Amino acid sequence: MRVLVTGGAGFLGSHLCDRLIALGCQVICLDNFFTGSRDNINHLIDHDHFELLHQDVADPISIECDQIYNLACPASPVHYQSDPLRTIRTNVFGIANLLELARESGARILQASTSEVYGDPQQHPQRETYWGNVNCVGLRSCYDEGKRIAETFMVDYGRQHRTEIRIARIFNTYGEKMGIRDGRVVSSLIVQALRNRDMTVYGDGTQTRSFCFVDDLIDGLILLMQAEGFTGPINLGNPQELTINDLAARIIALTGTQSTIVYHPLPSDDPRQRRADISKAKSQLGWEPRIALDEGLKRTIKYFSDKF
Ligand code: NAD
Ligand code: UDP
Repeated sequence: MRVLVTGGAGFLGSHLCDRLIALGCQVICLDNFFTGSRDNINHLIDHDHFELLHQDVADPISIECDQIYNLACPASPVHYQSDPLRTIRTNVFGIANLLELARESGARILQASTSEVYGDPQQHPQRETYWGNVNCVGLRSCYDEGKRIAETFMVDYGRQHRTEIRIARIFNTYGEKMGIRDGRVVSSLIVQALRNRDMTVYGDGTQTRSFCFVDDLIDGLILLMQAEGFTGPINLGNPQELTINDLAARIIALTGTQSTIVYHPLPSDDPRQRRADISKAKSQLGWEPRIALDEGLKRTIKYFSDKF
């Protein structure tokens, strides 16, 4: 099985490459290293089953493969907003290229979509049937709308060309190999805590998220790719919801830091609440997360403390 992983040098992509290689797949990792890092894949470079393509997913791609996982896109708001036009191009031209490749080669394709397609949700928790509440001209829209149009591309290739598509709506995921300067809340708060620096909480910290540990998420992606006769988006995430204040308190307790929390303004369009409804993943894939938040946080804290 030849498997193309775009964004394979990033946080989730590098874990996915590891797992696919352990399963005996031939992995082609495509990345432009915008937010990814060679450190994440260095241990795979000389592996017989691993190839690296330094390429942009928005440029035409011509390779032979049986499966495609499209993870190429910066996921942190700080990164995807630093060059919003590039983010749109990555999402739109990237999926257009990959769907053509899937059509030509008969490969099955999985799109790493996101809970951001629900925007600032007015239904809670979020089920796949909810159409979302997205500002199409806001600072987050390059990402949110880019991911929404990518889903539309996917389902229309499925309808028009019978391309085998899988859409994973991934909720906030954390773990080892997140970038130190990634800007996402789990990595930021842990790094600040380990350095005994102020811990930045945006807004009043009462907004909520539900955080999934990376190993669980990778299980879900692979199960979804392998599932037969499956179409339509599916939520993958941990349904345990907590406020950002609660998250900060847990990181303070687990690191024993001297840091204190400082409050900064809430970025625009920051969703007030988010919790994955994973009933569909449970019933149709037999998947649910197994790693509790404290366990996942301990592993992530160890990863970052080993780096310092
Ligand atoms: P990440 O930023 O660590 O990884 C993204 C990877 O894509 C990086 O290696 C980056 O260099 C690469 N990339 C970016 N633009 C590219 C381009 N134009 N061409 C080729 N490569 C490109 O982010 P991540 O957390 O690993 O997220 C991976 C995917 O999962 C993204 O598509 C993201 O939208 C999606 N997702 C992640 C989360 C999460 O919480 N981690 C949640 C929802 C969705
Ligand atoms: N956040 C925070 N401090 C940080 C980074 C983020 O309080 O240093 C908040 C952010 O405003 C949001 C939540 O944490 O409400 C999750 O942010 P993240 O960027 O990790 O993901 P997303 O907003 O895309 O869910």
